[in-house]
Amino acid sequence: MNEQKRIVVKVGTNVMTNKDNRILGPVLKNLVEQIATLYEQDILVVLVSSGSAIAGKEILGEISIKDPSMRRQVYSSVGQPRMMRHYYSIFHDYGMRCAQVLATKRDFSPGLHRENMINCYESLLAEGIIPIANEDDAVSVTMSMFSDNDELASLVAELINADMLIILSDTEGLYNGHPDHKNTRKLNSVQVDEDVEKFVQQSVKGEGQGRGGMESKIKIAKDTAAKNITTYIANGKRRNVILDIIEGKPVGTKFTV
Ligand code: GLU
Repeated sequence: MNEQKRIVVKVGTNVMTNKDNRILGPVLKNLVEQIATLYEQDILVVLVSSGSAIAGKEILGEISIKDPSMRRQVYSSVGQPRMMRHYYSIFHDYGMRCAQVLATKRDFSPGLHRENMINCYESLLAEGIIPIANEDDAVSVTMSMFSDNDELASLVAELINADMLIILSDTEGLYNGHPDHKNTRKLNSVQVDEDVEKFVQQSVKGEGQGRGGMESKIKIAKDTAAKNITTYIANGKRRNVILDIIEGKPVGTKFTV
């Protein structure tokens, strides 16, 4: 058992960008502000952040390379340091330190890489440094790719024995029908054996710029909850959403066993 509570927070590309695909400083600021508050409460946080590809597009605009895989490699490797510069400077403003931890799916298989990652996360957390994880998009292609960063977040949560995983997306949570219909309501709580996949609407399955949609989020949320890690899907654009979840307010959808 860990003495301090541990939370993994995953932030998706759609949360941190506007419709013109530009990174939203105020969203990142509120995210960091909340993490700072959690630290004051002795809660340890690992942030899993997408956004490198979109940050690369912000810098480069259109490029000549046509191969989708190579485009992703170029955009992400250019964008990752830009994204980290945002985080570095905001964490610095709050008197906190952060670190970049990139990984491919292979790193999570049993063996030396996994051990090295555990040592890295544990050492950073022990030093009071916030690890910021992302897929190592520069080298993770095909076999070594995660399905999306939700999968990475789930694997990190398991790796560090987290108590909770919060997946921040651009939706309030899981609805029991189409969001535009009158009788549709948000589900506050779901158990892993409930058939909630049937509620996912074809029209709202995608997540725009990010890879993971609602269907894969439910799968990840259920799999993670089944490992006794309480998992939430919530709206990352809602101010102080993480703190509201910790205070037990009915925001997002909670997945439990
Ligand atoms: N690793 C990608 C990025 O930082 C995002 C992957 C995903 O959308 O889940 O841009």
